[in-house]
Amino acid sequence: MKKLCLATQNKNKIKEIRSKLQSKFPHLDLIGLEDIGHTEELEETQDTLEGNAFQKASFVWQKYQVDCFSEDTGLEVSALNNAPGVYSARYAGSQRSDRDNIDLLLKNLGQQTNRQAQFRTVICLILQGEIFYFEGVLKGLIIKELRGNNGFGYDPIFVPEGYSQTLAEMNLEQKNQLSHRAKAVEKLIHFEKFDIN
Ligand code: IMP
Repeated sequence: MKKLCLATQNKNKIKEIRSKLQSKFPHLDLIGLEDIGHTEELEETQDTLEGNAFQKASFVWQKYQVDCFSEDTGLEVSALNNAPGVYSARYAGSQRSDRDNIDLLLKNLGQQTNRQAQFRTVICLILQGEIFYFEGVLKGLIIKELRGNNGFGYDPIFVPEGYSQTLAEMNLEQKNQLSHRAKAVEKLIHFEKFDIN
């Protein structure tokens, strides 16, 4: 089995990505940080999604010499000059609370009529030291109240373009068919050098 490490501590992300990757590559052993004995939080101190994705993947590659990828995602809201963007996780403070982040975002948007936003995911893949990037974007609208209990982060206030449900009202399978992260992972799967079988 070919081992590939997903450099994240976020269990939701591992769940989402594992279900997509493993149906396509049955011979792939997608391992997490705990499987290689890494228990500390990975640093994300850059000011771009690309920078953070690279920072996490290159740390794992340099320390453990295992092929790996990491991803960083941000919610970019048009009327807020693309904030919170790379700061999405800590928008309302270092406690990284989803509920606090949502409340602050809705407060800052107020009655603004332009509700357009997008989730953007950047994946950084390191294969034997070679570095590759993949991007996935999901456009949609920010609604004024929370709806749904699935997913995580800003899912309860984000309605994807062409849909009426929020991401939090969709099940994992539905979200996985359209999400920013799924689109980026799809590009990774079809990457010619990503030949796992
Ligand atoms: P991260 O730095 O990639 O972990 O993501 C930053 C923040 O973006 C997370 O803490 C969430 O608040 C938000 N986020 C990332 N992915 C999603 C998603 O799929 N749905 C909703 N929010 C997300």
